[in-house]
Amino acid sequence: MSLLSKQMLGYVGNSSLIRKMFEAGIEMKAQYGADAVFDFSLGNPDLPPPSAVADSLQELSKKVSEPFSVGYMPTAGYLSTRKKLAEHISKEQGVEISSEDVLLTCGAAGGINVVLRTIIEPLDEVICIAPYFVEYGFYVENHGGVLRSVPSMPITFALDVQSIENAITDKTCAIILNSPNNPTGQVYTKDDLVHLFSVLEKYNKMREKPIVVISDEPYRFLAYGDIKIPSMLAFYDYTVVVSSFSKSLSLAGERIGYIAINPLLVKKQEFMAGLILANRILGFVNAPALAQQILEYAIDAQVDVSIYAKRRNAMADVLDATGYSYSMPHGAFYFFPKAPNGDDITFCQILAEEKILAVPGTGFAYPGYFRLAFCVDENVIVRSEKGFRRAMEKINK
Ligand code: PLP
Repeated sequence: MSLLSKQMLGYVGNSSLIRKMFEAGIEMKAQYGADAVFDFSLGNPDLPPPSAVADSLQELSKKVSEPFSVGYMPTAGYLSTRKKLAEHISKEQGVEISSEDVLLTCGAAGGINVVLRTIIEPLDEVICIAPYFVEYGFYVENHGGVLRSVPSMPITFALDVQSIENAITDKTCAIILNSPNNPTGQVYTKDDLVHLFSVLEKYNKMREKPIVVISDEPYRFLAYGDIKIPSMLAFYDYTVVVSSFSKSLSLAGERIGYIAINPLLVKKQEFMAGLILANRILGFVNAPALAQQILEYAIDAQVDVSIYAKRRNAMADVLDATGYSYSMPHGAFYFFPKAPNGDDITFCQILAEEKILAVPGTGFAYPGYFRLAFCVDENVIVRSEKGFRRAMEKINK
């Protein structure tokens, strides 16, 4: 007998590979000591939040004894936070948006669920570009939808617009795009996005409901060199931006994110009313009060991205020196190299024998590759070289 639904039983039985590596890491660290383990399994930002976060907490400690200072609020969030956020997003996206176009959410994860809850009809399809963040599958099914996986281009992981077009059906209600991408670190080009949007416009003319693009952007702040992240909001009216401060302010545990919609959207007030209601009835009620107030103070701050840039170079040096093949990430904090034996699951086991924890590409619906999250100290990256070399030697023996 189980109290779990059949769906939940299935999920629990196949629990995420990322989580499994995370748990293996905890065991390994307990057995061998934390310094002996090279844990590249989890994208948990290790840089401290910028000082503006601590400063804001000091200010908040003076306010918090006032009545309602952390009480219920409008479901969309504090108006003052929405105003600040709208200014911030307008600069970032190059599109003038107002407080009415934004809604505070419990992280990007909460935001994606809110959007999906608002738009999905039973068995509607949501296209995701593989490899993709594994939680998308759960989020789509949470709301009765079906995930349609479309692989990105081999080697570069660029958008394959033709394959996306081939996957569009009458049931397609949305496409989730994530750039900079987890797990590949790649950034979609403006040309590819504009091409995709022109294809979507063509289909929209033949449909009652347009296809929504959900742009999941928690890594927008983290691009390397002179890479610019194109704004999808600027090029397609049915773009809904979902993002968070989990990575840019290292606030992942505080669950603070947002949804921003295009001010030109037809019937935008109705759409926003739907999003706000979904935020409430999914049980989020509103984004955390303290985190919203922190955001008002700290919105223009961010973690020191030069540290991630150095780590990216260090990881590339390790992979080059030991003979792995990969596409250099242009954003986010992940590498997605090829498993040299072609089998990501066995190769991650071989890496684990060297106390290197990586996540098999199968966990992102893209076998044959593995993910390395480089939100770890540079010293850990440098010291992992020997293990990467030995794992490669085992394959080539
Ligand atoms: N989307 C992607 C691509 C992610 O990698 C993550 C977290 O790692 C999320 C969404 C969820 O972010 P949040 O912590 O803001 O909910």
